[in-house]
Amino acid sequence: MERTLERIPPKSADLSEWYQAACYQAELVSQAPVRGCLVLRPYGYGLWERLQAELDRRFKETGHENAYFPLLIPESLLTREAEHVEGFAPEVAWVTEGGSEKLTERLAIRPTSEVIIGVMYAEWIQSYRDLPVLINQWANVMRWEKRTRPFLRTAEFLWQEGHTAHATEQEAAEEVARMLEVYREVAEDVCAVPVYKGEKSSSERFAGANHTYSIEALMPDGRALQSATSHELGQNFARAYDITFAAEDQTQQHAWTTSWGMSWRMLGALIMTHGDDRGLRIPPRMAPVEVVIVPIPRGDTTALDAAAKSLHEQCKAAGLRVRLDDRPGQSPGYKFNEWDMRGVPIRLELGNRDLEAGVVTLVRRDKAVKEDGQKQQVPLNEIVAFIPTMLEQIQHNLFAQAKTFLQDHTIATLDRDEFIRLLKERAGMIDVPWCGDPACEVAVKDATGATTRNLRQPARAERCVPCGEPARYQAYFAQSY
Ligand SMILES: [Zn+2]
Repeated sequence: MERTLERIPPKSADLSEWYQAACYQAELVSQAPVRGCLVLRPYGYGLWERLQAELDRRFKETGHENAYFPLLIPESLLTREAEHVEGFAPEVAWVTEGGSEKLTERLAIRPTSEVIIGVMYAEWIQSYRDLPVLINQWANVMRWEKRTRPFLRTAEFLWQEGHTAHATEQEAAEEVARMLEVYREVAEDVCAVPVYKGEKSSSERFAGANHTYSIEALMPDGRALQSATSHELGQNFARAYDITFAAEDQTQQHAWTTSWGMSWRMLGALIMTHGDDRGLRIPPRMAPVEVVIVPIPRGDTTALDAAAKSLHEQCKAAGLRVRLDDRPGQSPGYKFNEWDMRGVPIRLELGNRDLEAGVVTLVRRDKAVKEDGQKQQVPLNEIVAFIPTMLEQIQHNLFAQAKTFLQDHTIATLDRDEFIRLLKERAGMIDVPWCGDPACEVAVKDATGATTRNLRQPARAERCVPCGEPARYQAYFAQSY
């Protein structure tokens, strides 16, 4: 018997309900029998693998290598950098027993790996000749969370963390800027999610860092989503973990370290940004399946089956990520809706009449039903060569739509009342001159629930819009995830 597709609530009605339903029904994730954790199903893992591949290639192009460090961190090591441990303490999960034995020292399940990696760098780095050290780790981390929201808030999550050590502050600063640009490129050019780059305010800074930089995306409900961060750690960790080296002039110096990370949160940004009432819309460069072929059988299907298989083989040979949906028990209409819901960028429909005419019907997921150009017939002998062009168009169209949304919802103002009203209404990224004072930020947060997302210089006016003191930055304020 044919399954029926569960309906997803409309995205425009309630983003949060739509998001949860889309993640589960598109089979990205399942709830796990353990609190705060989710199962990443094959289609969801396929998305993660695409993100991983795009990031990993860029990390290697910029001179980094992958390595792997232990999951557990002895408590005595974790507590050495005071600000760092204070920042993470509320979310750390601990191992207190092994087998039947109570441990003499608790072991933290890594919330991040600066500590364990810092200890190893102290051992590996002796001389300026050992620098820079440029390492990335692909790993899971754990931060104790009570609420669960797919990709955005889970106790255990997947990410990458880069950790580097340099001989000078200048080199470390360049590294941090370089990796922030890698993140911007992956967010915008691969995930088609436009972002703002900038520095975090002191209250939003990573625990133990001198400077934290981020990329921030804007979700359809007007809330910002921090999508990656890059930190200048100065010599703070080098002092706490004795990462010293003999400089060219023979003096002993502390190294300058950095760390930077992007997690599967980026997938949450992608899903919310592009999805519509019919489900996900995945930008082609991120799509685990770029093209799905759905035959429409009627009467004798011998010729149709052979043509569909041949088309599938040709697409594979051309390097496309393609799926042939020839499941016998489901109607074509059901399959159309299901693949639409799962966000596959291109659907190829092939029926007997198409076959006789030597054409295939191509349907674009980035366009609305019956929108101009949503469907077109393409000669069968041209389709394989045509698909890459169409995928590029879809990629660019999705980015253009998201970019328009971000621009339309970025509002500059110099009026304090309007600033407060816009933040309360969750109107988007509110762009104002700002003083940089943490007390000023707290006052805005108390009044509106919003905080600075990131900052840049110089300020575009003399006075801070929230408080009237001299402005030092231009800041995006928004409510956030
Ligand atoms: Zn102020």
